[in-house]
Amino acid sequence: MKPPQPRQRPGFPARLPAGTPAPAPARQHKAEPTANRGASRGAVAPSGVGMDSAAVRAAMVRKLQGQGISHPAVVAAMLAVERHRFVDSALVNQAYEDTSLPIGQGQTISKPGVVARMVELLCQARVQPLGRVLEIGTGCGYQAAVLARVAKEVYSIERIRSLHEKARDNLRALRVPNLHLLFGDGMVGFPQGAPYSAIIAAAGGNDLPAAWIDQLAVGGRLVAPAVTAAGRQNLVVIDKTANGVVRTELEAVHFVPLKSGLA
Ligand code: SAH
Repeated sequence: MKPPQPRQRPGFPARLPAGTPAPAPARQHKAEPTANRGASRGAVAPSGVGMDSAAVRAAMVRKLQGQGISHPAVVAAMLAVERHRFVDSALVNQAYEDTSLPIGQGQTISKPGVVARMVELLCQARVQPLGRVLEIGTGCGYQAAVLARVAKEVYSIERIRSLHEKARDNLRALRVPNLHLLFGDGMVGFPQGAPYSAIIAAAGGNDLPAAWIDQLAVGGRLVAPAVTAAGRQNLVVIDKTANGVVRTELEAVHFVPLKSGLA
């Protein structure tokens, strides 16, 4: 196994370098946020043009709000978590676009719109504020960081060791004391932390593992992609009530597969 390498975090230019040429496919533009493009050489930048990542994120969040995201805690979390810290440096300029991006091992960081939608569904559950939350599929750790801002305690499991380690590296500098990263098979949940007020999965299988529903508190909510009777992958919400489980199927989604075992 390779010894852990100190990883260079992708930078995020706070301002356009003076004299940056007008939009051109020049290499140095690779690491700029899309919203930074457009200043021309020699022009005096009007205030607001030299956008830092907070401004680019705010633009992303305005778009999410336009798509219906409205819960104040979710809006605040999406504004706060710097998504560009979770993607490879070559992809930093796409970090605030509503798109999934590769994170290695054939896996992807979820689209911000999907992260916001799923976290909002959890924040609309009966038990509020969210206590302990279980996330299956840490990936690069982005959604886990968002969850840690809306919940008291977050346990996040990843089955691919190199991604678990990547998430650890990405999150180290952010110091998120209420987030616990676990290396393991999330199909069996994490009984030591149960019962959870919410469970969220970032990978989709044919069925929702029974362990997840078992580990959900009464009054708790599970949000996950799963294959429906129509044979498509949709977001599924499970509300666990004193009288049983209520299943609601929402819009079609496209998540990486939920797999068992470790890698
Ligand atoms: N939460 C991430 C998304 C990662 S993609 C984000 O913030 O964008 C989904 C992840 O689920 C992948 O890293 C994949 O390895 C992981 N995964 C799939 N099946 C799993 C399982 N049984 N247990 C834990 N992780 C799993």
